[in-house]
Amino acid sequence: MSEFGQVLRGAFGPARVFEQRPLAPLTTFRVGGPADYLLETRSSDEIVDALELAGRHGVPVTLLGGGSNVLVSDAGVRGLVIRPRGGAIFELDEQHVRADAAVTINGLVRWTVLHGLGGLERWAGTPGTVGGATFGNAHFTGQLIGELVTGVHLVTRQGHECDVPVADMHFGYDRSRLQDTGEILLWATFRVERGDSDALRSTARASLAYRKRTQPLDLPSAGCVFRNPEPGRDVVPDGIPWSAGALIDRAGLKGTASGGARVSTVHGNFIVNEGGATAADIRALIDRCRSEVRRQFGVELREEIVCLGDAPVISRS
Ligand SMILES: Cc1cc2nc3c(=O)[nH]c(=O)nc-3n(C[C@H](O)[C@H](O)[C@H](O)COP(=O)(O)OP(=O)(O)OC[C@H]3O[C@@H](n4cnc5c(N)ncnc54)[C@H](O)[C@@H]3O)c2cc1C
Repeated sequence: MSEFGQVLRGAFGPARVFEQRPLAPLTTFRVGGPADYLLETRSSDEIVDALELAGRHGVPVTLLGGGSNVLVSDAGVRGLVIRPRGGAIFELDEQHVRADAAVTINGLVRWTVLHGLGGLERWAGTPGTVGGATFGNAHFTGQLIGELVTGVHLVTRQGHECDVPVADMHFGYDRSRLQDTGEILLWATFRVERGDSDALRSTARASLAYRKRTQPLDLPSAGCVFRNPEPGRDVVPDGIPWSAGALIDRAGLKGTASGGARVSTVHGNFIVNEGGATAADIRALIDRCRSEVRRQFGVELREEIVCLGDAPVISRS
């Protein structure tokens, strides 16, 4: 047992500290090697304590939420992976609820619907946590989750906590300030309004049904791999929709495989793990999609998924 492992066990008990823990089962892609150390925290205070311990021992820290937007390298992640679990939701007043980073988006939707609070019901079926959704400013049918956030509580890598107004979060399409600063979300406050639970539930069900119709939910994936092209930044040839999935489809890449990974035949922006895929298989498909779309349409696809793990991923093709 390593020295830092002993320190973590001393602080958090043995049940939630793991060494050389495979991360694949903790991601929706179901690929990726081990974390040197994995800690499952139960509260914001524990996240801050873990950061402090890691800082004191010079151990790098990576946050893992629901693992639904990450590609973990086959070599795994060096240092400490913090995986916030559980978390609480509070109704601050009739217009605001506060949810810890660890709360799942589906848990938050269920809670608000049950309490007759509207605003989040359309997000039913979005995998992942409040932390991951805020980091990437999750989007669904044109709405960004950041549009519902009214404020956040963050901690820096050095352990300094601060309240940040939403205007300073620099939310944009697939973007938030957290991507630039490395700050960690401890909780976020969302705008809600009084609603009828039955009506909210039926909106949530409609969102779930839409997802089932349009996304390949029967196989492991990380949702959309690439960001959509952006007006003002990209130029998409006439007649092709401004979507990464449409570009991949028109490039003839749907169904293309590499090892156990395949570009979904249902949705061109999804790569699915058909069983036994490696991160290298997925990386090879990502590179193939990017180079073909660039060659055929002159559009540079940018990744929406986050690659975790510092070891280089070797492409097979
Ligand atoms: C089937 C499927 C459908 C999907 N549909 C959608 C969709 O409609 N819209 C959409 O936007 N996305 C979608 N996604 C992608 C994914 O669900 C979202 O991006 C989600 O918000 C990621 O949250 P997570 O907790 O899983 O983050 P993770 O994948 O665990 O992490 C993503 C990034 O966030 C960082 N992070 C996590 N927690 C914190 C924290 N507390 N503080 C700071 N950084 C943190 C991680 O370090 C990592 O860099 C889909 C994915 C799947 C598998």
